[in-house]
Amino acid sequence: MVLPNFEENLQKYAHLLVKSGINVTKGHTVVLQIDVDQAPLARLITKEAYALGATEVIVKWADDVVNREQFIGTPQERLTDIPQYKIDESLDQVAKGASRISVRSSDPDALSGVDSDKIAAYQSAAGIALSEQRKATQANKVSWTVAAAAGAKWAAKVFPDLTTEEEQVDALWDAIFKAVNLYDADPVESWAKKDITLNEKADELNKEQFVALHYTAPGTDLTVGLPEGHRWEGAGSDNVRGERFMANMPTEEVFTAPDANRVDGVVRSTKPLSYAGNTILNMEFTFKDGKVVNVTAEQGESVLKNLVATDEGSARLGEVALVPDPSPISQSGIVFYNTLFDENASNHLALGSAYAFSLIGGTEMSEEELQAAGLNRSTVHVDFMIGSDKMDVDGIRADGSTVPVFRNGDWA
Ligand code: ZN
Ligand code: ZN
Repeated sequence: MVLPNFEENLQKYAHLLVKSGINVTKGHTVVLQIDVDQAPLARLITKEAYALGATEVIVKWADDVVNREQFIGTPQERLTDIPQYKIDESLDQVAKGASRISVRSSDPDALSGVDSDKIAAYQSAAGIALSEQRKATQANKVSWTVAAAAGAKWAAKVFPDLTTEEEQVDALWDAIFKAVNLYDADPVESWAKKDITLNEKADELNKEQFVALHYTAPGTDLTVGLPEGHRWEGAGSDNVRGERFMANMPTEEVFTAPDANRVDGVVRSTKPLSYAGNTILNMEFTFKDGKVVNVTAEQGESVLKNLVATDEGSARLGEVALVPDPSPISQSGIVFYNTLFDENASNHLALGSAYAFSLIGGTEMSEEELQAAGLNRSTVHVDFMIGSDKMDVDGIRADGSTVPVFRNGDWA
């Protein structure tokens, strides 16, 4: 590691994730999901969480290589048989209101070549078994944050032109630190400001209450309906205890839920999607009455088709997010092959479940009520990027008049 002050910055990062990310205060339970090769960061996060008053910090270790071996070696019927103790563990964490930090550092191609049907079967089984935890997270019952760390394989994919692993990892750490404002004098303060700025943008859109958005760009002509009472939100959210947290670090987006039954037209992806350990390139979706009726990709098409076929909701949209092309992550010009970063460089949509808080009163609604209101329900939620400096977006009002929202990839 030749990055200057790395140790000091890593500690600053751990503090930022615990403080601004999940906002730990006295008595909290914290669950940290992190790769074994990020142990130094895991130790610092644990220390910082206890320093802010956490009662218990639970670390769930993961490893790309072990994960891959398990996918290959375990028979599908065992892989998809999620044991009751794992379900109980997730229910226990929900009952304790545990905050969750997920640190992503995986190789974007960690599972490439593994039977995509087997991966899809596992994702579906795990999605169903851990549905209570997912619902609690997606309804902001608990605080949660997704952040990143520079894994070596991931860094090699992002910076193939740098010669040594050390240079690649350094470059990725540097990009991560820049994206989360870590080099600012007081990053916690910078995040409080970002929260305010993005929420002002969300408020403007909330006042408009467009009935639909119309997207145009090369290869894209898509109309996305927005449900009555939809709520745009940016950066920060409040959990049920009224505590502020940041679900994604970095983040540059404002987002809401589309009407799962009113999406029509074609849309082309503009960035690669790393999903289920595979890189998917140049996707094109055709929607009719909210449902994907055709989907193609130049690479990873079978993985994508399996994703869309996961359940009834995985062929419909659950998120519409606006990110100006001049966002700092986009301007870095780096393709991260990691949704956390690439989604914050580009307008995006998500296949699968909508967030209950994207609808006024949504967090108090049942699954059936959410669905009736137009909010998509699914065991998956996968963002894909559609924005570019050639994209225009118009808001359509109830009277049919249109208002420019984006021109050439930036706020109009
Ligand atoms: Zn998003
Ligand atoms: Zn999303």
